[in-house]
Amino acid sequence: MRVAVIGGGAAGQLAAIKAAENGHTVTIFEQNEKLGKKLFITGKGRCNLTNAADREGFFRHVVKNPRFLYSAYAHFDSAAIMQLVESAGVSLKVERGQRVFPASDHSSDILKALEKTVRSRGVDVRLRTRVSGILTNGGSVSGVQIGQTVEPFDAVILATGGLSYPSTGSTGDGFRFAEKLGHTIEPLTGSLVPLEMEETWCAELSGLTLKNVTLTAYNRKGKEVYSDLGEMLFTHFGVSGPLVLSASALLAGEADGALLSIDLKPGLSEEQLDARLLRDLAANAKKSFGGALYGLLPQRLLGVVLDAAGIDGAAQAGNCTKAQRKALVETLKGLKLHVTGARPVAEAIVTRGGVSVREVNPSTMESKKIGNLFFAGEILDTDAFTGGFNLQIAWSTGALAGSSIPTEVK
Ligand SMILES: Cc1cc2nc3c(=O)[nH]c(=O)nc-3n(C[C@H](O)[C@H](O)[C@H](O)COP(=O)(O)OP(=O)(O)OC[C@H]3O[C@@H](n4cnc5c(N)ncnc54)[C@H](O)[C@@H]3O)c2cc1C
Repeated sequence: MRVAVIGGGAAGQLAAIKAAENGHTVTIFEQNEKLGKKLFITGKGRCNLTNAADREGFFRHVVKNPRFLYSAYAHFDSAAIMQLVESAGVSLKVERGQRVFPASDHSSDILKALEKTVRSRGVDVRLRTRVSGILTNGGSVSGVQIGQTVEPFDAVILATGGLSYPSTGSTGDGFRFAEKLGHTIEPLTGSLVPLEMEETWCAELSGLTLKNVTLTAYNRKGKEVYSDLGEMLFTHFGVSGPLVLSASALLAGEADGALLSIDLKPGLSEEQLDARLLRDLAANAKKSFGGALYGLLPQRLLGVVLDAAGIDGAAQAGNCTKAQRKALVETLKGLKLHVTGARPVAEAIVTRGGVSVREVNPSTMESKKIGNLFFAGEILDTDAFTGGFNLQIAWSTGALAGSSIPTEVK
């Protein structure tokens, strides 16, 4: 069969490799000047290509539509992508949280390994070539449109990615093609995305990173949806960093009206914290609150915390009342931030929403509406937490789509 793969990202390249291994004549169409432009920037340039957790670990980290991925993951799991990359000559290492990276810490090694495998399977790679439409005949795929030209194909794998970081090429073409062919596109928003806050003091703390804090997120109905210990940071618009991105995945689409609570001293109980305050305040009774509590928190944050607790930082520490101490303990154990919204999808790590998985066969990735049309990667309405899981979704769905192309034209 003549197979067109639209999009040369993670999912498209895997799909092309598998389709070519099964004897098909495969062409990748990629609008960029090179393959895998987004892959290059993943993992801060190190490419966290997968996660070495077991099957349960993988599915625990898929946020939307995990069941849809059962067959795809069984077909091509984290061990499979690690083996593929290693057999192309790249050594890998496993870091904290089972995150897998190239030993060199260079995403370019993963890109080279993939491209080498793609080319060794005889795939025709057409760079700087933007597909503008998919043609059908009698309910099945018949070709692709490139500018004014129509090229005939027996099967098409749509792997155009989502809407995040559009400068990497994921500009949403695939959603438009799929919608035109009768597919439902679930609302597109960002997941793993920074959050904007009502509190203007976030801007004053911009650049400050908090390590070893516990972040708890409550949705707009007041229900706790997330709580974890880790790292976050303040920005000019609100908050970002690993904890915030993960929380956003559970608030996605409904972030405005949510509440974040930061436990700045998760290692201390309220009683222990109160005892520490008593000690510090008594030992520095003649100093101001700001001076007496120096060392408790980064200086800029201490001012914000004292304000939030209703304490004048310039007042004398020795005059602290029991009520003030109680307010301070409560603020340190639960500094409140009111979410006004998420940053735009263009700034998200992944896209939430996309081609409805109800209209795609989970055993093959084939469209239930159009014959010989397949989907792979972020274009599908499934996404995961950080840790290598989103790329694993791309590898698994790409491999399954590529392996599912029938040997005979339908
Ligand atoms: C900053 C950042 C860091 C990330 N880090 C990680 C990480 O470390 N680990 C992880 O698991 N995930 C990470 N992700 C998520 C991960 O990169 C994506 O989930 C994954 O790349 C999706 O793969 P894909 O092949 O579906 O889409 P993409 O990689 O976006 O590829 C789609 C390709 O299709 C091409 N295309 C689109 N339309 C057309 C058209 N009409 N014609 C021709 N070509 C077209 C695009 O140019 C693009 O190259 C990160 C994302 C971002 C933004």
